[in-house]
Amino acid sequence: MGNWQRQFGSQLRVVDLLQEGTTKLQDGGIAEPRLNVEWLLSNLLRKRRAELYIDELEKPTNSEVVTKFRALIERRLQQEPLQYLTGETEFMSLPFKVTPAVLIPRLDTEILVEHTLQAIPPEKAIKILDIGTGCGNIAISLAHYRPQVEIVAVDVAPEAIRLAKENAKINKVEKQIRFLVADVLGEDFVAQFDSKFDFVVSNPPYISEKEFSTLPIEVRQFEPAIALQGGDDGLTFHRRIAMVTSELLTSGGQLFLEVGYNQSQMVQRILKKSGFYSIRTFRDLAGIERVVTGVVS
Ligand code: SAM
Ligand code: GLN
Repeated sequence: MGNWQRQFGSQLRVVDLLQEGTTKLQDGGIAEPRLNVEWLLSNLLRKRRAELYIDELEKPTNSEVVTKFRALIERRLQQEPLQYLTGETEFMSLPFKVTPAVLIPRLDTEILVEHTLQAIPPEKAIKILDIGTGCGNIAISLAHYRPQVEIVAVDVAPEAIRLAKENAKINKVEKQIRFLVADVLGEDFVAQFDSKFDFVVSNPPYISEKEFSTLPIEVRQFEPAIALQGGDDGLTFHRRIAMVTSELLTSGGQLFLEVGYNQSQMVQRILKKSGFYSIRTFRDLAGIERVVTGVVS
């Protein structure tokens, strides 16, 4: 065998892996098989997805890449979410690292962030509390798009806080955010803060017990239950957050909560009972009331 052949002869090219992976995922019933494979390959080869098609397709791959690629395809066939396989995602056009310790940021949550951004007065330095920050996506986006705000971001999961800190550095907003491990259900939650906030924002766990078993395997089996389960009726956290934030907000301060598809009415009622006024809702792209907001007196 000549040198060239020894190096490349029997080797698979990028295009071969692209085809092999796409066929396997398609046969395994994974939606958007080709797109999935493009993301996996571009992540593995450290190329942008479009670059794969510019000058990578005919290039030979080495056996290490092939082995890694096939292992990833097997994991994807088991319905492990793509973002856990690549370790990254995008939210509000910013890059975020994700691990199985955190929920993968959802497009719906951009609605929560966009309405919060709109409510922030330009130039005014305000303080925001983000409860259940996960990978930090909400806090980091608010800090990036409003450089004058100061944020405290909390989560009960230490691994989420570790990752969120890393994401803040990646997005160069670490000076604007203080990250804390804290349990919003704990009795001493309010006592941990030495001053009040102008805004509180949260996408808390809100899946009810009954609904949890109906979630797709991708979510139920792979994403952290602690990020999803909102107790019996799914509203444990909304009730608790409404209660604690009426104490944590300055007078005239505003709370922004993400809610499940059928929870808007009940969350509006919870806010009313906790003394909030100017209660409003915002719809997501599917027309579902996704955000409930209210002001404290
Ligand atoms: N903010 C991220 C987002 O919007 O994509 C993650 C939201 S995820 C639905 C809810 C987050 O709340 C998880 O990161 C979870 O670890 C955190 N959490 C669960 N129980 C909590 C508690 N008792 N106190 C504080 N955070 C909690
Ligand atoms: N939106 C998530 C889902 O569809 C739930 C997130 C949450 O509980 N806040 O599974």
